[in-house]
Amino acid sequence: MIEALNEIKNLRVLENVSLSSLTTFRIGGSCRLLCEPETAEAAIELMRILPTLGMPYAMLGNGSNTLAPDAGFDGIVIRPAQGGRPERLFGNRVRVFAGNLVPNLAAFARDEGLAGLAFAQGIPGSVGGGICMNCGAYGANIGDVCESVMCVLPGGLLRTFRGEECGFGYRESVFRHMDCLVLEATLALTPGDPEVIGAEMRDYAARRAASQPLSMPSAGSVFKRPVGHFAGKLVEDAGLKGCRIGGAEVSVKHAGFIVNAGGATEADVLALISHIQRTVEEKFSVSLEREICGLGDR
Ligand SMILES: Cc1cc2nc3c(=O)[nH]c(=O)nc-3n(C[C@H](O)[C@H](O)[C@H](O)COP(=O)(O)OP(=O)(O)OC[C@H]3O[C@@H](n4cnc5c(N)ncnc54)[C@H](O)[C@@H]3O)c2cc1C
Repeated sequence: MIEALNEIKNLRVLENVSLSSLTTFRIGGSCRLLCEPETAEAAIELMRILPTLGMPYAMLGNGSNTLAPDAGFDGIVIRPAQGGRPERLFGNRVRVFAGNLVPNLAAFARDEGLAGLAFAQGIPGSVGGGICMNCGAYGANIGDVCESVMCVLPGGLLRTFRGEECGFGYRESVFRHMDCLVLEATLALTPGDPEVIGAEMRDYAARRAASQPLSMPSAGSVFKRPVGHFAGKLVEDAGLKGCRIGGAEVSVKHAGFIVNAGGATEADVLALISHIQRTVEEKFSVSLEREICGLGDR
């Protein structure tokens, strides 16, 4: 099987890769294979032969919203290679490969004098993960500027979704529930002054640095924002700031985050999540829904 994969041009294949090195939580056992297509062609070829390999698989981006299993994953993790550069198209549009990191895309747009992505400067995901999760901040989401998304299905079939077909909602898209690899996105931006966009980005960066535990491993906000509330505020008001199970700790800087305070396991994080959900439900009758995903959740 590995021979078939090694024959694909521009596909990096690695064995027994630690999932903790692939996720910002720094948690998880090893996956059997990591496949990193560096080009759309390599991704299509990989997806074409995928059904013939007879192995479980999971899509991953930059692992910044993912809690990986302690037991590892006896299958193939498919992660579009990071790097590359977005491409400016006619009419203030930008095409970008799924593996590009969202902050790099935001910086590219700024440098090109294109507005609409300043909010994204501090979201540490890949474009593929960002599209799946419809990542957003400060009242804007990537889906707002998404003109189309190209993805590839197992078997190699390509499918392009127009923005309105992507089912973007709050941390939602059709891709979260589809067996597909997001390959690239085309974004429709508006002309803007790089100085103004840059100032906006610096302001967002300062706000994040002041309020989020950026120096500790985490997967960002653990819970979605419940209607009429802020998850972090509910967790704080429930007296859970600093609450710890094993190495998993409710951040003292931002109670909406769980941080890996040292040696945290998936089991620690799941136990802490359940404890938070139970406590908040008992105290405030609000049910907190998880935002973070398990590896390859669909
Ligand atoms: C410090 C910090 C701050 C954060 N701030 C924010 C914020 O302000 N706003 C926000 O929305 N999020 C935030 N996040 C969460 C996270 O960065 C976003 O959800 C991001 O969009 C996830 O992208 P990713 O590439 O890391 O996805 P991953 O965690 O790798 O994957 C997430 C989901 O997408 C799927 N997926 C990933 N790539 C592909 C692909 N190419 N094809 C098909 N499926 C794919 C995975 O299977 C998984 O289901 C933050 C996280 C951290 C650690």
